[in-house]
Amino acid sequence: MEFTDSQVRRLKELGVDTPERVEAAVARLAQAVDVAGLSQNALFQRIEKQAIAATRADIADLLERRHQPSLLTLEQQISDALEGAGFTRVVTPTVISAAHLDKMSVTEDKPLRKQVFWLDDKSCLRPMLAPGLYVVSRKLMQMVPLPLRVFEIGSCFRKESEGQRHLSEFTMVDLVEWGTPVEEREQRLAEMMDLVLTAAGLRSTGTEEDVSVVYGEGIDSVDANGLELASSSMGPHPLDAAWGIDCTWVGVGFGLERLLQSRQGRTSIHPYARSLTYLDGDTLNIK
Ligand code: ATP
Ligand code: MG
Repeated sequence: MEFTDSQVRRLKELGVDTPERVEAAVARLAQAVDVAGLSQNALFQRIEKQAIAATRADIADLLERRHQPSLLTLEQQISDALEGAGFTRVVTPTVISAAHLDKMSVTEDKPLRKQVFWLDDKSCLRPMLAPGLYVVSRKLMQMVPLPLRVFEIGSCFRKESEGQRHLSEFTMVDLVEWGTPVEEREQRLAEMMDLVLTAAGLRSTGTEEDVSVVYGEGIDSVDANGLELASSSMGPHPLDAAWGIDCTWVGVGFGLERLLQSRQGRTSIHPYARSLTYLDGDTLNIK
């Protein structure tokens, strides 16, 4: 039986967002009613009611037991795992300079430049964490011997046109190891990806070669549905000179909301975003 577009949207909002989940909902209903005898509208209403009850129960559990959205729990879990593996967390400003974007080669001619939220002609909301990591790392490198391991977790901002996997404000974790021996880079990168995936409760997924507009060729982490979870890169890299860096390195950046979307198998990323309409995967539109 086909649902209307608005019914499909409503079910998606309520987390009944894949054919398998619709089937499971129908199977649950079939235990109590003769599903075949229901009109399309009656079937929709029954599934909606069931999904609202599940959403209410999950919100009650959040309020009584969990007390924080998984986005924050995940941030803490990743942070703990990385600190445990010798990475040090840094916090750099969310507002960055146009000069730093230029140094990342996000120049006027690049598509990413058009995705930047500008505050004035000299400053913008960061679309990535790399500029802050470059600056702080370079200073630390002058004080301590390599290898140096640092990471940051925080909001990044990009104007995006595609809605299911993209947010205008999302949370990135970017980790970098400076001074990795050249021949160990691939291995270290795989270990660093695993560290984050394991902390997120995901099994090591596939990797894919990808071309980043900023870093050129790199290895992505992608889930079973082809959703990009992370992009990585390695140095020595042509961008390094502008930041005064001349050592080997490996780095990888994951989107936390993507990790949650993947873990929960949701078709949309929005339930896990900073949001006024969703809380920890649950729609608040269920009065
Ligand atoms: P995509 O190709 O999916 O648009 P990207 O390659 O432009 O992503 P990267 O610059 O590689 O993104 O950023 C690293 C990670 O940050 C991505 O792998 C993804 O998990 C996450 N990410 C990037 N852009 C967004 C966004 N707009 N919303 C949510 N997560 C994002
Ligand atoms: Mg990418």
